[in-house]
Amino acid sequence: MAELRLRIADNLARVRQRIADAAARSGRDASAVTLVAVTKYVDVDAAQALLDLGCKDLGESRPQELWRKADTLDGADVRWHFIGHLQRNKVRRTLPHLRLLHACDSPRLLEEIDRIAAETEILPSGLLEVNISGDASKHGFRPSELPAVIESLTQYKHVQIGGLMGMASLAGSIDDARRDFERLRLLRDSLAGNIPTGVELNELSMGMSGDFEVAIEEGATIVRVGSALFEGIDA
Ligand SMILES: *Cc1c(COP(=O)(O)O)cnc(C)c1O
Repeated sequence: MAELRLRIADNLARVRQRIADAAARSGRDASAVTLVAVTKYVDVDAAQALLDLGCKDLGESRPQELWRKADTLDGADVRWHFIGHLQRNKVRRTLPHLRLLHACDSPRLLEEIDRIAAETEILPSGLLEVNISGDASKHGFRPSELPAVIESLTQYKHVQIGGLMGMASLAGSIDDARRDFERLRLLRDSLAGNIPTGVELNELSMGMSGDFEVAIEEGATIVRVGSALFEGIDA
């Protein structure tokens, strides 16, 4: 247990330093980048260790796992991020836990979130997932769909969209990842002049353990880091 905490403390310090260095290289303040610690590989004790170390933004990609950890950590001061594909029949149980839903990836999901949010009087915040790499296996809107999707957001009065989320191509090199992230930022910039009231595109959720530094250099405001935080730990 003490060993686990020491490892995580050490890994977290290293990741935070790398975030600060990448921010400095791009002339940005490290405080402009939120670290979401992705706890999907580890159990509640590791999540608790992160919280104790002041890392309060935690991410999960499976609803059942998020529910389980949220129940176990009940009362702890966690900001939960859901970063996976959310099925519509899981919306009702997931929304009350969330600080941010990273992967709004279809009109039908947006509709369902809006419906449940209206009913339960919560105001969920979300990001639109964009399939920037074009990988067929990835969820998310195609870049060409985004102008129409953004225009349609005024229909969803109970969902607050605050930005875009994307992932680099799985097969690509770090230079490919940089190009994917640059593409997402340029897409955001091209859309930003023409967004309805109530919609914001300030947040860019991009970058994981293998590529969060280039993501920050390309403008990420949120990075989602899992494995780099848990090196040396048997999950
Ligand atoms: C698992 C996951 C991450 C974290 O991945 P690591 O490479 O372990 O840092 C980030 N984003 C999403 C959407 C994920 O599913």
